[in-house]
Amino acid sequence: MATESLFGEDRICGVVAARTTREMWQQLRAAVRDTRTVELRLDWLKSEQELQVFLARLRRAKFGRRVTLIATYRRIEAGGHFSKGVTGQLAVLRRAIAAGCEWIDLEIESVQASAGFTRGLCFAGARQILSFHDFAKTPKKSGLARLSRRLERTAKAAGFDAVKIATRCDSIAESLRVLALAHGKRNVIAVPMGEIATSARILMLREGSALAYAPVEVATAPGQVPLAEMTRLYRANKLDRQTRVYGVIGDPIEHSLSPVLHNTGFAARRVNAVYLPFLVRYLGDFVAAIELLGIAGFSVTIPHKEHIVRYLDDCDALAAQIGAVNTVVVRGQGKLFGYNTDYVGVLRALERRMPIAGSRVLILGAGGAARAVAFALARGGAAVAICARRMERAQRLARAIRGEAIPRRALRHEFFDAIVNATPVGMHPQTSDSPLEGRELNCRLVFDTIYRPQRTKLLQLAAGRGIETVSGLDMFLAQGIAQWEIWMGERAPEAAMGRAVVAALRREEKGRDKK
Ligand code: NAP
Repeated sequence: MATESLFGEDRICGVVAARTTREMWQQLRAAVRDTRTVELRLDWLKSEQELQVFLARLRRAKFGRRVTLIATYRRIEAGGHFSKGVTGQLAVLRRAIAAGCEWIDLEIESVQASAGFTRGLCFAGARQILSFHDFAKTPKKSGLARLSRRLERTAKAAGFDAVKIATRCDSIAESLRVLALAHGKRNVIAVPMGEIATSARILMLREGSALAYAPVEVATAPGQVPLAEMTRLYRANKLDRQTRVYGVIGDPIEHSLSPVLHNTGFAARRVNAVYLPFLVRYLGDFVAAIELLGIAGFSVTIPHKEHIVRYLDDCDALAAQIGAVNTVVVRGQGKLFGYNTDYVGVLRALERRMPIAGSRVLILGAGGAARAVAFALARGGAAVAICARRMERAQRLARAIRGEAIPRRALRHEFFDAIVNATPVGMHPQTSDSPLEGRELNCRLVFDTIYRPQRTKLLQLAAGRGIETVSGLDMFLAQGIAQWEIWMGERAPEAAMGRAVVAALRREEKGRDKK
C-alpha cells in the first residue's frame, strides 16, 4: 500500500485537453475547483501560436505554486497529437517546465529514442513520469509482470520518479491484473483503459495507484470518468480497504442513474461505501471478480435480469416466480442471494394514486419489467390484462398471473382503471413515439415505466385527455430505495436521493435542449 503520495494531497489528476488557449484555460480553472493535481495535454493545442500564448499565460499566473502541474506533449505514436520527432517534444516540455510545470510525462518510446535528452530534463529540475500505453490489449499474465519490471528498471536507470502503465482491458479480470501492478508501490500509476474498466478506474487509488486520471471535459483515453464525478459522486480519493463496494451491472450502463441515487444515499448517511457502474458483457467475468473487488451487493439491469438467476445460490420466492432479479446481496463466503425490487417500485408508485385491489389494469409488453408489474398488481388483487406485440408471450405471462391476454385491436372498446407501459417505446432518443394512440387510452390513469424523458409522448397524450399520469421516475426511485434498504438494513435518506436523481435528469434534459 502506498504510504506518502508523490503528488501531494490530491491523487486525482484532472486532465486538461483542448484545441485553444481559451478553452484550455477554462478547463484549468474548472479543474482546480476539484483537485490540485492537473495534467496539461499540451499536444492538444492546435498550433505553435496557441501553445506559446498558453505557456506565457501559465508562467504569468504562477499556477505551479498552488497546483501540481504535469506537462504532457504526447506524440502520435503513443496516442497523442504531436506529429514530429523527440527533439521537438523535449523542447516543448522544457518550455513547460520553465512556465511552472513541476512534472513531465514522457513515453517509453521517446526515452528509448533519446536517452541523452531525458537526462537534460532532470537537470532542468522537473520530476518525471515514464509512461507506457497499449491501446489495443493487456499483455497476458507473465507478459504484464515482465513489462512492469522492464519499465521500472528503465525508469530507475534514466532517473525517472514514477512509472505509468496504461493498457486496454476487455474484461474485469484484466482490469484487476492491471490494478495489481500498483499494489504496495509508491511510484506506480496503473491505468486500466477501455469502457469495461470504468469501475476499475474509480478504484485505482484504493488499489494503490499513485494517481488516477479524470478529464475535465474531453476524454483523452477510453473509459475515463469525468473529474467532477470522480471527486464528488464517487469520492474516489476517499475510498479505502474498509469501503464496501456496490454497483450496477448491465450493457449499456453509462447512462444509469443508479450511481447518483445510491452514492447520494451513502454520502447523506456517511456510510463508507461506493456504488459503481459495471459494464458487463459476460456475467461469468463479473461473478468471478465479485470476491476480488470485495463487492457486497449489486443491482442488475438490461440484459442480465433473467440470466443472473442461474448464478445465484438462493433467491427470494417472489423473484423466482417473476423469473427476474434486479438486486443481489453477497452474503458470507461469496454466496449470492437475489431479490426483485422492481415489484416494490411498481406498488409504491401506484398504490398512493389508486386502490389496486379490485382494479382492472392493462400492461403493455411482456418482458422483464412487464413481468414484475404484472406479478405486483395481480398479487395486490388487480385483474390484469396483457397486450404485447407477440401474442404468445402475452398469453404466457397472462397464464402465469391468471390474467388475460388481449389483442391491440380490442383496446378501443375496453376500459381500464390504469394502463401501464412496460415497453421501451417512447424512450430517449425515440421520444416522439408512443406505444398507444390517444383514442386507445380509455382509462383513469396512465403509468409509463420509462423515465427518460420524464414526460413521454404517451404521458403527454394522456394528460391532453385529462387522464392522471405517473412517470417511471417514481418506480425507479422506489425500486432503488428498496435496494439501498436491503443492503444497508436501515431507512434510506429518500428525499436526498430523490432530489439528486431529479437534478441529474434535469441537467441531462437541459444539455440535450442546448444541442
Ligand atoms: P425487455 O425485457 O426487453 O421487454 C421489453 C418488452 O417490450 C417486450 O415485451 C418487447 O416485445 C416489447 N417491445 C420492445 N420494443 C417494442 C416495440 N417497438 N413495439 C412494441 N413492443 C415492443 O425490457 P424490460 O426490462 O422489460 O424494460 C422495458 C421498459 O421498462 C424499458 O423502457 C425500461 O426503461 C422500463 N423499466 C423501468 C424501470 C423503472 O424503474 N422505472 C425498471 C425496469 C424497466 P418483444 O418481446 O416482442 O421484443
